[in-house]
Order: sequence, then C-alpha cells, then structure tokens
Amino acid sequence: MSTQRGNTQRTRPQAHQNTKAFKNDLHDTSSQTKLINNIDLSGVCERCKSILEWKIKYKKYKPLKAPKKCVKCEQKSVKKAYHTVCFPCAKLLNVCPKCGKNEKVIEKLISIEEQLKKDAELQRQIKLLSLRRRRTLLRYIASLTKGTNSGFAVGEDEMRKLQEEVTKKLESLKINKDDVLDDLLDDLTDESDDD
Ligand SMILES: [Zn+2]
Ligand SMILES: [Zn+2]
Repeated sequence: MSTQRGNTQRTRPQAHQNTKAFKNDLHDTSSQTKLINNIDLSGVCERCKSILEWKIKYKKYKPLKAPKKCVKCEQKSVKKAYHTVCFPCAKLLNVCPKCGKNEKVIEKLISIEEQLKKDAELQRQIKLLSLRRRRTLLRYIASLTKGTNSGFAVGEDEMRKLQEEVTKKLESLKINKDDVLDDLLDDLTDESDDD
C-alpha cells in the first residue's frame, strides 16, 4: 500500500520519476513528426522561434496544408505555418514574418563548405588551377572562414560576400600563358617547399 488510511503524507519517494527529458518522437517515429522536427525555424524573430520550438516539442505544431494569405500583399504567398507575412514582404518591410513586428530575425545558417561545393562553376574553375594556386585559394578560403562562429556556418548575406571574395581571389589566381611553365615548376618542386 502506498499510503496508510487517513494518512495522505507520503513517506516514500515517488515511484516513477521522469529520468529523461520529454521527447516527442520517443513513441512516434512517423515521417510527419520527423519532418516537423527538422523544420527550419530561421527567418523569424527570437521570440517567435521559441514559440514555434515549443509547439514542435509538444506536438502542437500543425503544418500548413495550403499557402495562406499574406497580411501585407494579400497574396496566397505564406508557405509556413503560423506565419502571417510572406518572406518577400517580411524582407522588404524588415519585419518578422510570424509576428509582423519590427524585430531582428534569425538568419538562416548555411555551411560554407556545402555552399562552395554546390557552386559548380567555382569548382570547375578551381580544378583548372595548378596545384600551387589551388592550395593558395583553399588557404585563402580557410582564412576567410576562421573568424566565423559555429564552425563553418554563416548567414546567407555573409555567404554571398564570401563567394564574391573567393571569386575575386580566383580571378587574381587565374593563369596567363606565361605562368604555365612557372606553375609546372612550382608543382614539381612543391615537395621541397613548405609554406
Ligand atoms: Zn506578402
Ligand atoms: Zn516574431
């Protein structure tokens, strides 16, 4: 018996204590839940992000079935649940697309490495460089990304700037006819040279 008759004061500790934090996918491994757990919450303000996170965690999040009307442009252009303003309007008016307030929104983070890999043209150009010049470029990219926090992830705007810089550097590294021999020699003597 857990308690004596008439004695409501518990004398033993609680039998079943939650030892693990609540997890919404512990018993539900459906693809819907998985999808919702992976929703990208960037683009909204800090406060809205935590509201959405709470909804997701406690399974209150209901994805949109069809695009909703944007309160600014009145087009059916809102594609994310609980958002009231479409992304183009939010960007234009500098507001959070969920609460519509003039708040700083969380930038979407993308991996520099991933982005550069996706940039097929850049890859093609890099392949055309001699080993020496390719190394110089890779070192340059590494030096650019050194100061960024959270490893190799930056916001979209920052990424665009970075790509411009890399392209500029690449241009400066492109070989003239006269350089070909130099590079060939460089590549051949590379072993003895450490920089
Ligand atoms: Zn709009
Ligand atoms: Zn907001």
